[in-house]
Amino acid sequence: MPDAMAVGLSPDVIGVFALSCLGLAVGSFLNVCIHRIPKHVSIVSPGSRCPHCGYALRWFDNIPLVSYAVLRGRCRGCGAGISIRYPVVELITLVIFLTHYAVFGWSALLVVRLLFACALIVLFAIDLEHHLLPNVITLPGIGAGLLFSTVVPPGIEAALIGTLVGGGVLWLIGEAYYRYAGQEGMGGGDVKMLAMIGASLGWKLVLVALVFSSVAGSVIGMLVILSGRGGMKQALPYGTFLALGGLVASLVGDRIVSWYAGLYGM
Ligand SMILES: [Zn+2]
Repeated sequence: MPDAMAVGLSPDVIGVFALSCLGLAVGSFLNVCIHRIPKHVSIVSPGSRCPHCGYALRWFDNIPLVSYAVLRGRCRGCGAGISIRYPVVELITLVIFLTHYAVFGWSALLVVRLLFACALIVLFAIDLEHHLLPNVITLPGIGAGLLFSTVVPPGIEAALIGTLVGGGVLWLIGEAYYRYAGQEGMGGGDVKMLAMIGASLGWKLVLVALVFSSVAGSVIGMLVILSGRGGMKQALPYGTFLALGGLVASLVGDRIVSWYAGLYGM
C-alpha cells in the first residue's frame, strides 16, 4: 500500500495543486471583471449569464477550462459561440500564478504581487478591447500598492517616489507631446496605470517597466507599420505594453537592476 509521501504527494505538491486551482478560479473571476467593468455593471451580482440568450450559467457550466471544452465553446442554452477569451484568460492566470510561485515561493510578497498581476491582466484585456484603462482599477491600485509597501518590498519610501516617478514621467511626456503635436498622445489612464506600477514596485522597477514597455511598444508598432497593416493608430494601445512591462519588472526587475548596476561597478 503506497502512502501519500511515496507517490510524491509532498506538502509542496499539494500546495502547488491548490495554487493552480486558485489560479483558474481567479482567472474565471477576472473574466467577469474584464466583461463587466467597461459596462459599469456589478462584478458580484447577478451570476454569469449568456450575453446572447440570458441563460443563467449553473456551477457545472462555470468550471474553468473544463466547461469550455465540454461545451465546445458554445452556450448550453442557445448554442451561441463563447469567446475564446474566457479559457485564454483562465490559462494565462494559471501560468502567471505558477510563475509567481517559482519566483517568490510561499511568502507575503507572493500574495501582494499576485494581486498586482491580477490588476494588470484585467487592465491588459480591457485596454486591448476598449482602449480604456478604468479608474476603478488604477486608482484603488495606487492606494493598495502604497498600503502593501508599508509591510513588503519596496517599502513605503520607494513606493511613494515610484508613484511620483511613474505618474510624473508619463504626464510630462504627454504634456510635451501635446504642446509639440497639438494632440493628445498619451491617455490619462496610462499615467495613472504607471503610477499604480510605481506604487506597487517602487521607483527602480517602475523605470524597468517603462523602458520595457516603450521598447516593446516601439518594436511592435514598427512591425505593424512595416507589415502594411496600418499606421500608429492601429498599433496596440500602450496600456497593454505597460501591463507586460509591469509583469516583467515584478518578476525579474530586481535581477535586471542589479545586472545594470553591475555594469557601472555599483
Ligand atoms: Zn445563450
